[in-house]
Amino acid sequence: MSASNLPITRHSTCAVKIGKVIVGGGAPVVVQSMTNTDTVNIENTVQQVAQLANAGSELVRITVNSEEAAAAVPSIREQLDHMNVDVPLIGDFHFNGHKLLDKYPDCAQALGKYRINPGNVGRGKKRDEQYATMIETACRYDKPVRIGVNWGSLDQALVVRLMDENSRSAQPCDTHEVIHEAMVTSALENAARAEEIGLGRDHIILSVKMSGVQDLIAVYRTLAQRCDYALHLGLTEAGMGAKGIVASTAALSVLLQEGIGDTIRISLTPEPGGSRSEEVRVAQEILQSMGLRAFTPSVVACPGCGRTSSDYFQTLAQNIQGYLREQMPVWRRQHPGVEDMTVAVMGCVVNGPGESKHANIGISLPGTGERPVAPVYVDGEKTVTLKGDHIAEEFRQLVDRYVVEHYGEATITC
Ligand code: SF4
Repeated sequence: MSASNLPITRHSTCAVKIGKVIVGGGAPVVVQSMTNTDTVNIENTVQQVAQLANAGSELVRITVNSEEAAAAVPSIREQLDHMNVDVPLIGDFHFNGHKLLDKYPDCAQALGKYRINPGNVGRGKKRDEQYATMIETACRYDKPVRIGVNWGSLDQALVVRLMDENSRSAQPCDTHEVIHEAMVTSALENAARAEEIGLGRDHIILSVKMSGVQDLIAVYRTLAQRCDYALHLGLTEAGMGAKGIVASTAALSVLLQEGIGDTIRISLTPEPGGSRSEEVRVAQEILQSMGLRAFTPSVVACPGCGRTSSDYFQTLAQNIQGYLREQMPVWRRQHPGVEDMTVAVMGCVVNGPGESKHANIGISLPGTGERPVAPVYVDGEKTVTLKGDHIAEEFRQLVDRYVVEHYGEATITC
C-alpha cells in the first residue's frame, strides 16, 4: 500500500532538520539506532556506525560520557565522512554533558544533534544552569536537541512536586497517572525552558520513554495532544529477542497507527554475538508492515505444514530474504522503487500459485507427493518451471533479472 493511500493521519508536528534528515513536519518516519561500542574506541565505533547506516539507520546515536569520548567524536565524524557515510551522529549526554560540550567545541560541532536527559542533568540550582549551558551550546552551533525523558531517570524533584499537588487535589489520581503526568510535564517544561533560552521549536524533539507497553501508549497520546514538537518513539529497555521485538512492535504500532511518532528507535538487547543492526531491521519491518515506508522487497512465504516434505522451501525463503536485504545498499541507488517489490516463496500447490501470481515474482515449490517441479510466476503469469538441484540459484537469477528489467539498469558500481 502506498503512503498516499494510508488511512493514517499523521499528528501535525514541527519539522526538525538534522543534517540532511528531516524529522517531523509530515516527513517519512525516520529510523534511528544507537551504538554499543565504547566511543573512545574510534575504530570500533566507526565500524559499527557504518554497519548501522548500511543497514538503513538514518541517524545514529553514540554515547558521549567522558572527556576521552568527547575528544574522539570529531575523528569518528571525519573517518565516516572519508568512507562516504554521511549519517548524522547524535551525542548522548548525561551528568557531565554541559562540561563536555563546553570544553570540546569540535565535538559540539561534529555532532548533528544532542540528546539531553533532563533527569540526568544535575540537581537543584545546578540543574538549571547546566541544562541552560547545553541548550546555549545547541543554539551557538545551530544544533537540534532531543529532550529525552526516561522513566528510569525521571526528575525526582518534579515527581515529588506533582505528588504533593495530587495529594492536595479534591480528586487525586493514582500514582501511575501521576508518573505519566510527570513524564509529560518534564518534557514540556524542559522544551519551554529551551525555547526561552533561544532554541527554536524547529530544533526540539521530545521523547518520553517507558518500558511498559500500555504506559508508553498512554504518555505519548497525552504528549501528542499537548504539543506539536516532533516526537521520537521508543519502548525503553524492550529486552531481548522475540520479547523485545514483540513488545516494541505492539507499543509503536498503536501509536504510529494514530499518527504519533516522527522517528523511532527499537531498544533491543542483542543476543551474545548478535548484530546491533537487528534493531534497525526491526524498526524498518514495523514501518514497512504498516505501509508507512518501504525499505526492502517483501518476501511472502507460507508457514509450511504437513504438505511440505522438507525444510527446502524454508531455506529458500530465508536465503531469498537475506539475499534481497544484502543487495539493498546497492539496489537502493541503482534500482529506485525496488523496495516495493514482493517475492513469493510458497511450499506447495494449495496456495502457491495463487499467492505467487499476486507477487511481482513468485515460486511455488513442490509439496509432498507433488511432481518435483517449481513453476515461477512473473507479474501474475506463469513463465518457466524450474526443476533439478539448482532451483534456488536459478530463481535468484530470475529475481535479479526482474529487478534489472523493472527498476532500471545498473549504472553505479561503487
Ligand atoms: S501453501 Fe502448501 S505448504 Fe504452504 S502452508 Fe499452505 S498448504 Fe502448507
